[in-house]
Amino acid sequence: MSFDALLGNEQLKSDLALSLRTGHSSHCYLITGPEGSGKHTLARLLAAAILCQGRDKPCGVCHPCRKVLEGLHPDFITVDDPEHKSISVKLIRQAREDVFIQPNEADHKIYLFPRAQDMGLEGQNALLKVLEEPPAYAVFLLLADNPEKLLPTVRSRCRELKLSALPRELLEARLAGDFPQASREEIRRAAVRGGGFLGQARRLLEEGQSIPPETTAFVHAYSSSDALGLTNLLAPMEKWKRDALIPVISGWLEILEEALAGRAELSSLSRKVAASRTAPDIYRGIQSLQKALAYARSNVSPGAICGWLAWALR
Ligand SMILES: [Zn+2]
Repeated sequence: MSFDALLGNEQLKSDLALSLRTGHSSHCYLITGPEGSGKHTLARLLAAAILCQGRDKPCGVCHPCRKVLEGLHPDFITVDDPEHKSISVKLIRQAREDVFIQPNEADHKIYLFPRAQDMGLEGQNALLKVLEEPPAYAVFLLLADNPEKLLPTVRSRCRELKLSALPRELLEARLAGDFPQASREEIRRAAVRGGGFLGQARRLLEEGQSIPPETTAFVHAYSSSDALGLTNLLAPMEKWKRDALIPVISGWLEILEEALAGRAELSSLSRKVAASRTAPDIYRGIQSLQKALAYARSNVSPGAICGWLAWALR
């Protein structure tokens, strides 16, 4: 089994397998990547690998592996409070006390923090104390889609595992297998809009690829060269997270690309753009959207991106 259940990320998987084989595992891992990038899958596989009694870790068939993968292992503990937006310091202190109680049945005790970025400063400081001097059997798995929110002192204690977007062919092949009823076009769109991440693309296909209201509004404003409409549309989006912004802007880009290419099976939105704007106009629009996406991926703030885009697309 090894780490194959996680799609793509080949370098990361082989580095991890090697470090586990040679006994160079870390006591704290920070797993980062946007929503739907596989953080939970990797965390489960890593926990199974650490507790595995088989040869090719995680083997997926030994008793500890199966218990971890089914979410039933008593030494694999999740620290979260899904009812609340942030993880209370009280919960972290409780976990910290629990760390010093010997494992139930394994050689290790693994603590999973699925929303590490939602621990406040106090909580992070409480955790830091145990990260600095953990008992030898303790392992911490911190998951974060926004690792910038973590204290540098916490980050520096962890080995960071950063999940990447998947190669398009690999992602599309997987989606085609998971959604046999979806057309090739639907698969392609979900792969692009999902930013190359399996979880996001899957959700889009599950939701029947409904078009976000912002996209309909964009096509309407862009087609009628309505600068004020574009500004009004982009202003509230300035407060969005980058992870939410990227798929929507990717969707806009795709519509303009389709309109410019004039494919036979144009969607109604692309047809509207193609009918109302000239090819050089659309080409400039495409360049602006590509630039906005590049900004979004290089950590420019959504506020700056949307402000710039309202100006560039006017
Ligand atoms: Zn195993």
